[in-house]
Amino acid sequence: MADGVYEVTSVLDGKLIDFAGHAARLARSLSELDMASPCSDAELLDIHRELVRLNAIDEGMIYLQVTRGNPGDRDFAYPPADTKPTLVLFTQSKPGLANAPAAKTGWRVISVPDMRWGRRDIKTVQLLYPSMAKMAAKAAGVDDAWFIEDGHITEGTSNNAYIVKGNTIITRPLSNDILHGITRAALLRLAAGAQMKVEERPFTLDEAKSADEAFITSASAFVMPVVEIDGAALSAGKVGPIATRMREIYLEEMRKAAV
Ligand code: PMP
Repeated sequence: MADGVYEVTSVLDGKLIDFAGHAARLARSLSELDMASPCSDAELLDIHRELVRLNAIDEGMIYLQVTRGNPGDRDFAYPPADTKPTLVLFTQSKPGLANAPAAKTGWRVISVPDMRWGRRDIKTVQLLYPSMAKMAAKAAGVDDAWFIEDGHITEGTSNNAYIVKGNTIITRPLSNDILHGITRAALLRLAAGAQMKVEERPFTLDEAKSADEAFITSASAFVMPVVEIDGAALSAGKVGPIATRMREIYLEEMRKAAV
């Protein structure tokens, strides 16, 4: 049933980036699916820290997944409410995560129709369509795909999408149409603090192609510039100053706040 939810938390300098944000979103995903929480946030933090320690992770990420548990039966109805949820976590060491060379050259993306379900705000493990879109991007020789619905961009396969016009960062508002990115929330807060204007509104593919800059955010790519959309180069195919600056600010501020 794809009856599971997940979180990916980055580790920098051996510390967790925005753990509180991920724990809060996990609680929301669980609650939207009437799934029991496997443990308290404090226990979750202990488990994350213990995994970082045992695996000696300096830079990398922690994947966490909660599934509804094993009732010993297959049924479309959820298992009995007292079924114990299954919690699985693993770490991935990614030395150089924060210094990804792609941040200097930027990503190229293609657009694909958004054929996902209507509750993209819940972070479920049902990721087959995003995976197909990623493969379409690979087949086209680019880095990622942006989903299009009713002529407007929703988000990337595993990231939130932004365009920049002058001093304004434009991104789709929160709704059931997109995942409520933890990195997105931090980015918008930090952008406002850096005297950038933020407009939360839908934007079209054409608007994106003629924007000054574009970028994406996610917990593991942080802020990643986008330099080409469907073959159209943005800022002459070079990484733009605002995406670069926001990446620097994000990494600096989030490292300071890491736990
Ligand atoms: N949108 C989608 C569809 C995603 O899968 C992700 C990452 N899991 C994001 C946005 C970015 O969310 P976050 O910043 O919390 O990683």
